[in-house]
Amino acid sequence: MNILSSSIINLSSITHRQAMHLSETVRINTLGELLSYYPYRYEDRRRVYDIRTLEEEMHAVQIRGKITRVESSRKGKKRLTATLKDRTGHLQLVWFHRTEWFQRFLKVNTEYLVFGQPSKHLSSFSITHPDLVEITPKTTLSKGILPLYSTSQKLTKAGVDNQTFTQLQQEALSKAIPYIRETLPPPILEKYDLLPRKEALSYIHFPPDKKHLAKARYRLKFEELLYLQLHLLQRKKLRNTLSEGQKFANTSLLTKYYHDHLPFPLTDDQKKVIKEICRDMRSGHQMNRLLQGDVGSGKTIVAFLCGLLPIADETQTAILAPTEVLANQHYHKLKPAAENLGLTAALLTGSTPTKARKPIIKALADGTLKILIGTHALLEDKVQFKQLGLAVIDEQHRFGVAQRAKIWGKNKNLTPPHILVMTATPIPRTLAMALYGDLDVSIIQEKPKGRKPIITAHYDDKNRLLVFARMRAQIEAGHQVYIVYPRIISSDGEETYKDLMDGYESVCRAFPNIPVSILHGKMQPVDKAYEMKRFVKGETKIMVGTTILEVGINVPNATMIIIENAESFGLAQLHQLRGRVGRDDAQSYCLLLTKEKLSYKAKQRIKTMVKTQDGFQIAQVDLQSRGPGDMLGVQQSGLYKLKLADLTHDHEILQKSHRVAEEILETDPFLQRSVHVQLRKIIQYLSENTHWSVIS
Ligand code: ADP
Ligand code: MG
Repeated sequence: MNILSSSIINLSSITHRQAMHLSETVRINTLGELLSYYPYRYEDRRRVYDIRTLEEEMHAVQIRGKITRVESSRKGKKRLTATLKDRTGHLQLVWFHRTEWFQRFLKVNTEYLVFGQPSKHLSSFSITHPDLVEITPKTTLSKGILPLYSTSQKLTKAGVDNQTFTQLQQEALSKAIPYIRETLPPPILEKYDLLPRKEALSYIHFPPDKKHLAKARYRLKFEELLYLQLHLLQRKKLRNTLSEGQKFANTSLLTKYYHDHLPFPLTDDQKKVIKEICRDMRSGHQMNRLLQGDVGSGKTIVAFLCGLLPIADETQTAILAPTEVLANQHYHKLKPAAENLGLTAALLTGSTPTKARKPIIKALADGTLKILIGTHALLEDKVQFKQLGLAVIDEQHRFGVAQRAKIWGKNKNLTPPHILVMTATPIPRTLAMALYGDLDVSIIQEKPKGRKPIITAHYDDKNRLLVFARMRAQIEAGHQVYIVYPRIISSDGEETYKDLMDGYESVCRAFPNIPVSILHGKMQPVDKAYEMKRFVKGETKIMVGTTILEVGINVPNATMIIIENAESFGLAQLHQLRGRVGRDDAQSYCLLLTKEKLSYKAKQRIKTMVKTQDGFQIAQVDLQSRGPGDMLGVQQSGLYKLKLADLTHDHEILQKSHRVAEEILETDPFLQRSVHVQLRKIIQYLSENTHWSVIS
């Protein structure tokens, strides 16, 4: 038996109780699982600092000194402070929790070894909640880089604290080391200068120095991402060769629309992705494709044209939008287009009245209704298609996995529909793969011809009059303007509209003769639709709204967007909002209003927006400052938890591992060669133990 899969109970330093809790709380049952429970942080205890040498923005440091005074304040929040002195100076140690306990524990005029992160206030340093031990003749001072394992209260109570963890890891490592097998083929180790697995595992727990730690982490991240990529690529290959899909090869409707009704020439990128999508639908395998295209790149028409393919073969197309406003807009745009071809289209949302719903459901079931556009209302069980050929999901990151899986099941006893998900969030292809599983990716890079870059400027609040003057100029030229306010959720979880309402009133006062629309989340769907319609028709010139305006809205005559409190928006969101203008050949503007004093990060965001229009570049900056979880709703995407690698920062490793995975599968698709045996076992284990959603 492999020692790595033997139970941790065999370790000499573990109790039954500890083993049970490790199994229950962190799912550690075997030595192998224990060893892959990596430290989340390290403490560098190799050096003792003099207080005088401390600097701002240092990481945690170790200091040896005497506590000369302990003092507790009772004003307001309880707080305990102690003065620590060494031969070069002094600093404050501060506690906010367990103050009474520490007050009893700390001894004045006694030497301590203190560890923690110093912070500077005025001219002196302090350390909040330091780690500290009293120095006695018996104390053995640890001197290495020490691992910190994440523990919970429950674990600590059961006697598994950091020290226990460290001991267990030490023992496990010494037992297991001879049995740890290499998982990566030797040429890859060599080519990418990776540590052997044995060394990596021992250095990640007990690094002799920072360089070895970095190499260990690199190697383990690499393998983690490689496993993931292999798993995904293999699944994709399998799907592309095995899964059955509806076969649509009749291009008659598409060609007819293309030649007779197309309102503008398509861009080369639009043509390219249409070809890719049609090729998938013709292949006989089920399509799962992600269409990525920056805001305003013209994804809607692509979806429509591709939707004609299934219809020509007597099946149906559904287009799913995340909001009613957006579903409405798609409907009004696509219905006349469909009618040009003698096809019927219908809109189904949460606010479709029951009376109108009945004939839709009926026509859908008997197949006379060809195109259904709607919100998640069309996922309800009552909504049954005769045969769904293609489902298009617009702005897909707003949908959960469960909802997407529901579409999959729409064709009860028939072959599942093809699925096209569209997003304006530009993300690197490899990252998209890691996030969205085994989707194929198509990208529209170029914007329709004639589009001018949107001029973006930053104003501080005090220049509001200037901003109003610029608005007036646009309106006088016959254009329209958006003003956007951030969503504000009050402490009771409700959205509040005070800023929005104040803003609305001040705009109405400043432009007394100009009709103004308002749009926010709490309005009834019919009212929203009504306001939106007035703005689309040009009856109102100014649209004041919350971020409800963020996704997808398309009013080409709007040439200016003003974003209030721009500092409180994330980059991706600012970029989406800016994308509401510049949808026509006219020069468009985006004005970012902020308060005067901005945090460093907010300043960076505003600067990035002013500097670039490139959604890809913006996404990169966003990714780096926020992380993909935040940006794309990774929680929803069904991605299994990575232990060490971080998709935000490890993009380079991700790319390399992707390339390696492709190379490996190219020559050995089923991982049958002897150098790939370990990999095959791991991937098999992954496939059996992670619950990938069907679609993403
Ligand atoms: P998005 O990709 O953000 O969903 P839309 O599909 O809403 O973009 O398209 C934005 C605008 O550009 C629409 O008004 C659309 O009619 C127009 N459009 C799309 N493709 C072209 C093209 N090839 N030439 C000119 N205008 C186009
Ligand atoms: Mg869109």
